[in-house]
Amino acid sequence: MRILIVEDEHKAAEYLQSGLTESGFVVDVSGNGDEGLHLALEEPYDLIILDVMLPGRDGWSVLSSLRRAGRQTPVLFLTAKDTVADRVHGLEAGADDYLVKPFAFSELLARVRSILRRGPARQPDVLTHGDLVVDVQRHRATRDGRRIDLTPKEFALLALLIRRRGEVLSRTLISELVWEMNFDSDTNVVDVAVRRLRAKVDDPFDRKLIRTVRGVGYVIDET
Ligand code: CA
Repeated sequence: MRILIVEDEHKAAEYLQSGLTESGFVVDVSGNGDEGLHLALEEPYDLIILDVMLPGRDGWSVLSSLRRAGRQTPVLFLTAKDTVADRVHGLEAGADDYLVKPFAFSELLARVRSILRRGPARQPDVLTHGDLVVDVQRHRATRDGRRIDLTPKEFALLALLIRRRGEVLSRTLISELVWEMNFDSDTNVVDVAVRRLRAKVDDPFDRKLIRTVRGVGYVIDET
């Protein structure tokens, strides 16, 4: 498995490279967005670990250029910013996962393995599940042809559950991916958001999509 790291902080890049190499991956490193994009287009990587703030073009630009070029290589974003807007931006731009700096290497490795297990095929921009249609690019959701009005967070939460259907997502993981990482285990925020989402997506319909797994989290089951 080949991984490209695009990260301009030399120490961080070196740390990631040695850790991933020890874990059995073949790793290339670039410290510049333009060069990183060039490599990503030329070489067959299985995964790209992409910093946001880079010399040359930034991480967003690398990702959007890559996707415009039709490359579906999975991208794990490393970001120092953890605002909701950035996360939504990243999900729209086609990022597969996030890690907010600083992070533990074990956490990075777990995310890398999880992305690689999911395979190279990136999910399409329009996700469907039964009568639910989620258009990630246009930020629209419908069920049974009826438009569902969602806040950006509710939309990100629904898109996450659909993308990872069949997988029980913990409150901690959801709060990391949709909100800020350092929640001090106040995962009640996730429960409140799920309740609001259910009121819009499930309550008006006979078939309920979002299932609570007691003590673990939430899942949308595969049909
Ligand atoms: Ca940087």
